[in-house]
Amino acid sequence: MISFDQYEIWFVTGSQHLYGPETLVQIAENSKNIAAYFDTCEDLPVKVVFKSVASCAEDISILCKEANISKKCIGIVCWMHTFSPAKMWISGLLELSKPLLHLHTQYNREIPWKEIDMDYMNLHQSAHGDREFGFMAARLRVSRKVVVGHWKDDGVRHEVGVWMRAAAAVADSRTAKVARFGDNMRDVAVTEGDKVEAQVHFGYEVHGFGVGDLVEHVAAVSENDIEDLTARYLEEYVVEPNMHKTAKYSQLREAARIEGGMRSFLRDGDFKAFTTTFEDLHGLAQLPGLACQRLMAEGYGFGAEGDWKTSMLVRSMKVMGAGLSGGTSFMEDYTYHLPEGGPDLVLGAHMLEVCPSIASDTPSLELHPLSIGGKADPARLLFTARQGQAVNATIIDLGNRFRMLSNTLDVVEAPQELPKLPVASALWNPHPDLKTSAAAWIHGGGGHHSGFSQSVTVEHLRDYTDMLGLELLEIDRSTELMEFKRRIRTNAVYFALDGRR
Ligand code: MN
Repeated sequence: MISFDQYEIWFVTGSQHLYGPETLVQIAENSKNIAAYFDTCEDLPVKVVFKSVASCAEDISILCKEANISKKCIGIVCWMHTFSPAKMWISGLLELSKPLLHLHTQYNREIPWKEIDMDYMNLHQSAHGDREFGFMAARLRVSRKVVVGHWKDDGVRHEVGVWMRAAAAVADSRTAKVARFGDNMRDVAVTEGDKVEAQVHFGYEVHGFGVGDLVEHVAAVSENDIEDLTARYLEEYVVEPNMHKTAKYSQLREAARIEGGMRSFLRDGDFKAFTTTFEDLHGLAQLPGLACQRLMAEGYGFGAEGDWKTSMLVRSMKVMGAGLSGGTSFMEDYTYHLPEGGPDLVLGAHMLEVCPSIASDTPSLELHPLSIGGKADPARLLFTARQGQAVNATIIDLGNRFRMLSNTLDVVEAPQELPKLPVASALWNPHPDLKTSAAAWIHGGGGHHSGFSQSVTVEHLRDYTDMLGLELLEIDRSTELMEFKRRIRTNAVYFALDGRR
């Protein structure tokens, strides 16, 4: 359900009329070549369209207005081939509401030492043309990414690709709707937040429903659809032999009925993320576990216990990571392993709802009792997460702003089997170590729920938070606690004074 096909990035080159029409023709040709090259690069997932060589204020203003209203355009790449006096960019940049990437490149990689003359210098003057543009963007406090280097460099393409993915997640978020089945878990604080402010910042709408609304959809699922889904379960996952002859099979069919009902509800309402709560299951036979896992794997964002902020964070991370190796899941820091001599580890899991996109192997489909909720034994997928690098992120509402915290980590192999653990899990070593990471996360007020990803990196999160004007507190290998606490204090001043919005 996640695709970049409907999106475009617009490539705009800045210049002026001072150098004559021939120069402008050459600039247009060079710009088309760069845009066409970007468009063919597989690591750049969004279509790149060359728009124009901008050389006067009116054209730039019209172009920015067009970008704003275009459903396809999710961001603009600007590059100054020559000097483009920046006053002509004022009205356009003030109006632009789409993400901006300032590509500081040069058409020719090397200086032709023997041939270079003033004509060549006039054509290839990005080195100072882009600085003039940079001044205006800084003067107007326009949030943007600046990418430096030759346009064919791997590093440049990588940075542009990361930005495209963040821009796609922002575009997706601005049109997204979250369905909440039931409210937040009673008395829980961090999963709460200001939904109006969230819509202002992220664009997404949060819609609440009684569980009865979902139950109607669940009841309407046909026996045929239940049969189809159940057959797929038996095909796709590891199941106990002759499962279809056991008493559990009717409960598995019930899980399929819930999945079918949830999917039709989410499709009918065009929702991109959803939440559930074990405190409100009236009319549902079991807590939706398998359904949440499978819908997450399809690309839906999910948050448990009514956690709508995390559900959309998971969705945005799934958009940013779409097509990359590794998956993204809703996650919770559950239990610690604190052996003498270390290393201290975190066992991440949830009651049921961990996305199989992060599984190291084919998940096992099982039904076990749930110690809370008082419902029938829910079906769930069991697996452990793939080893390797990952990132955890959370978004909290501080009252005057939203804050994201991120923590890089290494998923490690469990030192022993966990034969009695009836849920999917991930075991990780957070950077720089658990002691610093957890203290920083707690000082920053980070939630116990997170978006966990092995496809998205902190680079994506940086671009994403920049585009949305969010605070980002990064915890990584270089984090030192006293410095981290100082950053929290200085950020408080910055966000109190920031009058951008
Ligand atoms: Mn939870």
